[in-house]
Amino acid sequence: MRTTLEEVIKRLRTAQRVLVIGHIKPDGDDISSVVSLVLILRKLGTTAEGCIADPIPWFYQSLHGVSVIKTVEELKDYQYDTSVTVDASELSRIGDAVKLLHGNPPDIAIDHHKTNTGFGRLDFCDPKYAATAMIIYEIGKQLIVYDPNLAESTLLGIATDTGFFKYANTDYKVFLYAAELLQAGADIQHIASAVLEHRTLNEIRLLTEMFNALKISEDGKLAWSFISTEMLIRNGCTEEETDGLVGEIRAIHGVEIAILFIEWPKHHVHISFRSKSYADVSGLALKFGGGGHSRAAGCSCKNVDPESLIEKVISEAAKIL
Ligand code: 5GP
Ligand code: MN
Repeated sequence: MRTTLEEVIKRLRTAQRVLVIGHIKPDGDDISSVVSLVLILRKLGTTAEGCIADPIPWFYQSLHGVSVIKTVEELKDYQYDTSVTVDASELSRIGDAVKLLHGNPPDIAIDHHKTNTGFGRLDFCDPKYAATAMIIYEIGKQLIVYDPNLAESTLLGIATDTGFFKYANTDYKVFLYAAELLQAGADIQHIASAVLEHRTLNEIRLLTEMFNALKISEDGKLAWSFISTEMLIRNGCTEEETDGLVGEIRAIHGVEIAILFIEWPKHHVHISFRSKSYADVSGLALKFGGGGHSRAAGCSCKNVDPESLIEKVISEAAKIL
């Protein structure tokens, strides 16, 4: 049932043992939302644990609070009275952590994806928020006082989901909340350095191969590339290290839609869609079983032939341009 933030806060005030779950293929907003909500609840004196089913990319580890996130295995016997999912647009996005829900929907679902399916008992989703971390911040402000560490973990999500304050979702509220978090002691340089300056030489070599394989439509508006399993292995990279590469394709002058196909493992293809100023790629991702936002969306296709998948996706993408 769609609800208000007040109802969510009321429910969280009475909770005694909370389980917070984020989505698979964790990004900065996901990690930030899990960590921040767990820290808020602990400050309130509530018992709280946070779970993300996939490994956390190594470069987030230096940021405050990231180590509180536990695996599904570590939490399999954790008893809770309230479950909360954050930044997940549909239940399948929490991956194996669904086991911890024992067949029930989450008691509370908090999200900002346009394609959200409304799966929580209490369900709060508003795509006007640039980051789920901003919703968590509004909850937190009602419950506790921010310290520098909590401010840092909250700012992480706002910074990453706005491309460090430059995407179209960067509105007045983004800067306002960021300013408040800086005032509370967050260090934006620490976050920026951890998230933006971690490329390894292997990743740079992979990036070169990605650009060598780049294809671009005649009008220059649609650009795409394919990173095969072999390319990843050859460069000593995992799927984790492809994070952000699609943004490099979108950065090309004149490109409106950028699509990156990543095959990992063999015959499983993750597709990342990005658009620059007007194309809505969330519908495109939805067509192939995924979802997301207007300017950033994705999907994962299992047991497919990459070549024919690419052909299908590119022809669908061309239609919306
Ligand atoms: P990325 O391209 O970085 O993997 O994902 C971009 C956006 O699309 C993120 O907001 C993410 O939540 C969403 N997204 C990525 N993969 C999937 C998917 O398989 N299903 C859904 N519903 N959303 C996805
Ligand atoms: Mn998000």
